[in-house]
Amino acid sequence: MHDAAYLSLLASLHGEQGHLDADTYHGPRSVEAALRAAGGCVALARRLHAGELERGLALVRPPGHHAERDRAMGFCLVNSIAVAAAALRDAGARVAIVDFDVHHGNGTQQAFEADGRVLFISLHRYGGLFYPGTGSAGETGVGEGIGATLNVPLWAGSGTPEYLEAFDTRVGPALERFAPELLLVSAGFDAHLSDPLGGMVVDDEGVEAMIARLATWAARSCRGRWLAVLEGGYDLGAVSRGAVALARAMLDG
Ligand SMILES: [Zn+2]
Repeated sequence: MHDAAYLSLLASLHGEQGHLDADTYHGPRSVEAALRAAGGCVALARRLHAGELERGLALVRPPGHHAERDRAMGFCLVNSIAVAAAALRDAGARVAIVDFDVHHGNGTQQAFEADGRVLFISLHRYGGLFYPGTGSAGETGVGEGIGATLNVPLWAGSGTPEYLEAFDTRVGPALERFAPELLLVSAGFDAHLSDPLGGMVVDDEGVEAMIARLATWAARSCRGRWLAVLEGGYDLGAVSRGAVALARAMLDG
């Protein structure tokens, strides 16, 4: 997934403090944390694929979905969900990723845009130079991957009705068509109305409703096998309530 030269660069930063880009800082142990986060996601994904677990929640930091093959971006050093999805793909599994963080999952899209074996779906705020600027509806994949990338851009100020409509009319049908064996979720909680960066107004009930739909689709297509990885979220209350809602949906499922 990541270039060897980029991983060497990260390894050289162990013990150091600094910035990899304008907003991606690292402390002395950030690289270690990022590598452990990705390794934990791979281990979890493999246990699901082996049938040892049905569901799993990776409460990891730093987040990963902006990290591209050869560069850190947007607080992300290593793209944990993409590394886990690549491991599953390499083991022959048919994988879908749904990313509901308010920002486009540019790194995850880049990892799989030319690969028809992994479906990537991202719902995100788009327009007005909102970070990272990618994720238009016209980005649907490259080469053999055409049709296996679905971007659902949403206007600033979108809330629960807009998100649930997008889930029901775009995400659900795409998952049904693709019929994945395993569902991976990039769970960012920065579309919540309390988030200071996201500019969206999804309430707690909306977050719970989105999670309930994901659980239903995993039950339908993946024999209940799904995992979620924590991505962004800048209101700690919204992140913790969202993570608890995810855990509860998984325990109830
Ligand atoms: Zn985000």
